[in-house]
Amino acid sequence: MTRRLILFAAVVSLLLFAAAQAFLFDFSGVVSIPKTEVSVAQNEPPAPVIYGIVTDSLEVRKGVVEPGETISTLLGDYNIGLSRVHALSEKAKDVYDLRRMRAKRPYTLLYARDASRTARYFIYEPNATEYVIYDLRDSLCVTLCQRRVDVVEREIIGQIRGSLYKSILNAGGSARLVDQLADIYAWRLDLNRVQPGDSFKLIFESRQIDGKTIADGQLKGAYIQHSGEPLYAIALDQGKGVTYFDQDGKSFKKAFLKEPVEFSRISSRYTQRRFHPVQRRFKPHLGTDYAARRGTPIRTVGDGVVVEASRSRGNGNYVKIRHDKTYTTQYLHMSKFAKGIRRGARVSMGQTIGYVGSTGLSTGPHLCYRFWKNGQQVDALKVKLPLAEPVREEYQDVFLAKKDSIIERMEAMDARQTRADLLAAHEAKSGQSSI
Ligand SMILES: [Zn+2]
Repeated sequence: MTRRLILFAAVVSLLLFAAAQAFLFDFSGVVSIPKTEVSVAQNEPPAPVIYGIVTDSLEVRKGVVEPGETISTLLGDYNIGLSRVHALSEKAKDVYDLRRMRAKRPYTLLYARDASRTARYFIYEPNATEYVIYDLRDSLCVTLCQRRVDVVEREIIGQIRGSLYKSILNAGGSARLVDQLADIYAWRLDLNRVQPGDSFKLIFESRQIDGKTIADGQLKGAYIQHSGEPLYAIALDQGKGVTYFDQDGKSFKKAFLKEPVEFSRISSRYTQRRFHPVQRRFKPHLGTDYAARRGTPIRTVGDGVVVEASRSRGNGNYVKIRHDKTYTTQYLHMSKFAKGIRRGARVSMGQTIGYVGSTGLSTGPHLCYRFWKNGQQVDALKVKLPLAEPVREEYQDVFLAKKDSIIERMEAMDARQTRADLLAAHEAKSGQSSI
């Protein structure tokens, strides 16, 4: 009997408590009603603070700038007169000029929740990382704000289905990653030949805002398995910027650039027999001619020492560079030498050594490029170029640590992928049996 009484009392007190809660909730509900009405944006949860602005007495309108739309057309419907728009434009010039607004960029308009519908704030996003707050209240005020950008490491893994490009995009990567891969692997693997059955794993930096990727950055490590052969690329900075090495510490780069002039066309190839346009007779052409505009920079294809920077009747202004005991290159018909290029000067790969001209026996502006291997003139386009130096001795430990960590992470990626595949297979199976 007493037990029932206690139970009854408990139930009653619970009910009373619940009623009190409901009353309280109602009471506070009255206060919070405007908050729920703020969510004008379609199907979005209430966002009482936008761009750091408390919006509880404001309506929110989000949109993108349409072609032809200006600040005066955008604010015209929100009780902001032309003179005020003009004053705002003047004030904005020093911070973010309103005339720089471009179509398709997002904006947000906050206006009073009353009959006047007066605009209070206009926020424009010129790019993913910045936004400008145009405060339209009493004293006009313009502020350019930076969003916080986080740099995080991301990983993707995938099988080749279709092209490498498509497969990487499907796995959540970007065109920028594909470009980087193409640059890194250029000498070692023809990525156009990657085929179904091949696979890839990538670890890279990614710039994010609020957890959303805005741009993929540098690759830290890559793995491509082609025809059963794995080829890792491990990023390493040996003090001169990041370069990539394979799992054996061999460079992905060649010791030489492919071409001494960018944006040029080959006008004459290396041959033992060519009709010479100036001398008008057949003779060997032991170089490769690149036609390019006068003044186009000529770069040394590799590190080395200038052994000649002089002028002769046939060669015009020319530079000869000794790269090591095996390789020497020569650059002819220059209009002039680059600053500092003289006998004995040290040069590094890609450095400008002179400019395209037509000095010496030449019919028009071009570079004649010559290549010696062990004292023999050879065809620069056919010679098998050596790889750049492997990981330097003093960086061996750093490299090995990086390599181990990347391989370990990639093995963990494999394990996760296998689990996910098994789970998916299991779910597909149980889904089928229930039908
Ligand atoms: Zn030539």
